Amino acid sequence: MVNRRKFITGTSLITLGGVLAGSASLLGHPLNVTDKSNRDSRKRIGLQTYSLGREFQENIPGGLQRVKKMGYSYLELAGYRDRKLYNIEISRFRKMAEDAGLDVISSHLNPPVREYTDSSTKTVLDFYKKASEDHAALGVSYMIQPGLPLTRSTEEVSKVCDVFNQVGEVVKSHKIHFGYHNHYMEFARVVPGGKKQFFGLHALGREIPPGTEVIYDGFLKQTDPDLVLFEMDAYWTVMGQNDPVEYLKKYSERIKLLHIKDRGVLGQSGMMNFENIFNMIYENDIKHYFVELEKVDSGTQFEATKACIEYLNKAPFVK
Ligand code: MG
Repeated sequence: MVNRRKFITGTSLITLGGVLAGSASLLGHPLNVTDKSNRDSRKRIGLQTYSLGREFQENIPGGLQRVKKMGYSYLELAGYRDRKLYNIEISRFRKMAEDAGLDVISSHLNPPVREYTDSSTKTVLDFYKKASEDHAALGVSYMIQPGLPLTRSTEEVSKVCDVFNQVGEVVKSHKIHFGYHNHYMEFARVVPGGKKQFFGLHALGREIPPGTEVIYDGFLKQTDPDLVLFEMDAYWTVMGQNDPVEYLKKYSERIKLLHIKDRGVLGQSGMMNFENIFNMIYENDIKHYFVELEKVDSGTQFEATKACIEYLNKAPFVK
């Protein structure tokens, strides 16, 4: 007797699918294999809560429920202050997210100092020690700094990288990854002994002086891959006059997270080539990306955040 298990293992999945689809059709119940809503519901898309603005802070539990209903699966938070999240105790916030069915996997936070010196390093590290305890209790995988410390010279870039590596050690001891998120000024250049950043194609003249460094490239080269990862904000990279795809190709081992962002609702400006960016997400095996909304031209931020996921659900290049 050919048992069912043998039958299945001896038949390719494609053939089996065809047999089942055919037989179901014969019975008058065609399998709706092309049903778009079914396919869309399998897309796992993250949201950076910065997108939601003040409205979110007025009713956090309700806002989380609305985000889940839109179809987002996981979150990166932007509300860590004074050892709380959006002014809520960590354990309570965690429960609210769990009740809404959302995974909180990442969180943005900035230390209280912008200038990294030998004397301020301790303040930065103390901040991250406490923050790591809080984020371990929250259960996140990533703690990401979105604020650029003062970087006016190649020496300051090196100092920041040294501190980032130390922060990475602290955060890693809590089994969390530390990362850096860019805006556009990271694509400015600095020179040895410099006093300011030079942004734009010809800010330093047509000949780039020797020893000049793009701040972001300096971060990528001088941080330890075991301690510091990068969350690339694709929109701010474009605003920084650079191609996110080029960076994703060159630094495939360093850029582990992405912000999927446009000037407003995703796909409306025409300035972002999301198809190419998503191709790189799959090529580099990037596990998580977060939709982020910068601003809205009309309606509420919740409405625009919903329009963003609808765009990605419809996009054939998003798996
Ligand atoms: Mg961003």
